Amino acid sequence: MPALILLAPGESTEYPTGHGRIRFRKYGDVDREFVRAAVHAAEPSADGETRVALATLRPDAYPHAGAWLAAVAACAPAVADHRNPEAAPGSVRLLARMTRTHANGVPRKSDGSVSWSVPGASTRVWPDGRVEVQRAGCVVLAVRLEGSGWDSARVAAVADAGLRLLCAPEARHMTRTSQPSGWAWSSLWAGRSFDAASEAVCSCGWRVMAASRLGARGAAAEHVRKAFAGPPVE
Ligand SMILES: [Zn+2]
Repeated sequence: MPALILLAPGESTEYPTGHGRIRFRKYGDVDREFVRAAVHAAEPSADGETRVALATLRPDAYPHAGAWLAAVAACAPAVADHRNPEAAPGSVRLLARMTRTHANGVPRKSDGSVSWSVPGASTRVWPDGRVEVQRAGCVVLAVRLEGSGWDSARVAAVADAGLRLLCAPEARHMTRTSQPSGWAWSSLWAGRSFDAASEAVCSCGWRVMAASRLGARGAAAEHVRKAFAGPPVE
């Protein structure tokens, strides 16, 4: 990834990723500069469109730009088009893993955007494909996702990636467990059956099913213990 701080205003550069290329261009002057980064899909659409995302980065965000844009490129649809993303902010919020709980529902602003936070960072997703991730209001990763191939799961993965970059260390492994479905009428058994199974989910993407909620909580605690113990030092 190029060192964005070294680009001169008006200069551009290009960087290939495993998924498509990223094109950077610096604007402004020395005191008020920013970089626009266009993420391109590997395959052009029928009319030649390849851009799937356009990010705006101020100097505070330069150290995170490489990891952020690589994640955007990895989540991007394979083919670009000129239509708007098909993601809905509420669904993005429900699919996101970097979130503590879904229990309080999904509050929506009058512009249709939805925001949520984890320790140290917050994100907001708009219906037109804009995604912003902030750390304490200073580092801002801002991107506009372009093309109908952006569904809610892909947009959630972009928000997750940004939150993982900017969050406090403890937010990288926030676990929750699902409420067991409990008693249910079963036509198969002509009676009631009890389902105690519970899923443990972590903000890092780890998840596991357990036979009971107690089991799920135990598995989650074990996952966090291992995560913070870290890999052996080489
Ligand atoms: Zn985890």
